Amino acid sequence: MKALIIGAGIGGISAAVSLKQQGIECEVFEAVKEIKPVGAAISVWCNGVKCMNHLGMGHIMDKLGGPMLNMAYQDGKTAAIMTQFSLAPLIKEVGERPCPVSRADLQSMMIEHWGKNKIQFDKRIERVEQDQQGVTAYFTDGSTAHGDFMIAADGANSAVRSFVLGHSIEKRYAGYVNWNGLIDVDTSIAPADQWTTFVADGKRISLMPIADNRFYFFFDVPLPLGLAEDRSTVKDDLNGYFSDWAEPVQKLIQSIDPSTTNRIEIHDAEPFTTYVDQRIALLGDSAHPTTPDIGQGGCSAMEDAVVLGQAFATSKDIRTALLSYQSKRNQRAKDLVLKARKRCDVTHGVDMEVTQSWYQDLKKETGENIMAGLKETITSGPLG
Ligand code: FAD
Repeated sequence: MKALIIGAGIGGISAAVSLKQQGIECEVFEAVKEIKPVGAAISVWCNGVKCMNHLGMGHIMDKLGGPMLNMAYQDGKTAAIMTQFSLAPLIKEVGERPCPVSRADLQSMMIEHWGKNKIQFDKRIERVEQDQQGVTAYFTDGSTAHGDFMIAADGANSAVRSFVLGHSIEKRYAGYVNWNGLIDVDTSIAPADQWTTFVADGKRISLMPIADNRFYFFFDVPLPLGLAEDRSTVKDDLNGYFSDWAEPVQKLIQSIDPSTTNRIEIHDAEPFTTYVDQRIALLGDSAHPTTPDIGQGGCSAMEDAVVLGQAFATSKDIRTALLSYQSKRNQRAKDLVLKARKRCDVTHGVDMEVTQSWYQDLKKETGENIMAGLKETITSGPLG
């Protein structure tokens, strides 16, 4: 049995590795000549780390995961601590630690694990056909590939999705812009073992420790779509949006390298529950594009891959396995998308009264409520 995997991102590689565990041959096709990740880093939460372990890629987490042992919220204007607590009780309860990782390093180690020479780069799928015998991918360079089934892990702007759904979908702007990048750890900005978040006015700045003594940082600002801002204006833009914020924030803005800072207008899409049409299945962002507000998009793609493997472990009948994958994943992934959207709105001042009340709650937070929310998200995944 042969699978065509479209996309060599987190989802595509996880799916290929998972299917290989079931003895299924995979051919992986990637549109770009060289993968350049859109973000500087991601937090692989404990559920994602469990998936990476299950897929035999736990060593990647061990190598790249930063020491995120504590968590704190600070007032953006004064740097006063609103809440600060250890994540140890959460890690103990769920049985795994969270791993913030460099995205470029994650991507390249996953590709290395799968085998770079087993990926066909510069192959952009534009159309797909299927019949009783199998599925055929048509690429923009005129070439084709044939397999028994296809896993379309071609991201939020998936070219395959409309063939599965029978229509295209609208992306939804989440109302804010995210700038992200990496800097060397500077403990005058934040502790080296803590996920630190500054909040005020519906804006947010976060720092997470990743391996090799670096911080992943990001800034969120509620803004209209399509502003004339890019890397060349990044320092002026951030200085403008955060002019009256506290000293550590000013220091962070001074420390960033605009040439490696990404600016992204954040989108998601209305969740849908059809992931499968006959021999084709959507996986990862192609199936459930989400805002990054609970750090679960990539983790969800890893969960998809684990469940896909489990489905083929139970049945080698393609239709049965793909439909089982769909039924086990669509509600969970939808829940995560909607949870992220809800968190997004509270964080980014969609209703400032709600956001102010969240700030007040943070000042009373002992860590118990936040960790209960994180635990629920983590343990509702396929590996508990
Ligand atoms: P992608 O990573 O988009 O990969 C798709 C691949 O398919 C790409 O390599 C692309 O080149 C290729 N492709 C596209 N079109 C075609 C085509 N026509 N033919 C062939 N190949 C094609 N997730 C977390 O878990 N934790 C986080 O902390 C987190 N933070 C985030 C922060 C930001 C700012 C953003 C934007 C996202 C964040 N995410 C996070 C989400 C995470 O990045 C995505 O959910 C994840 O990358 C999805 O993986 P994927 O493989 O499905 O899609």
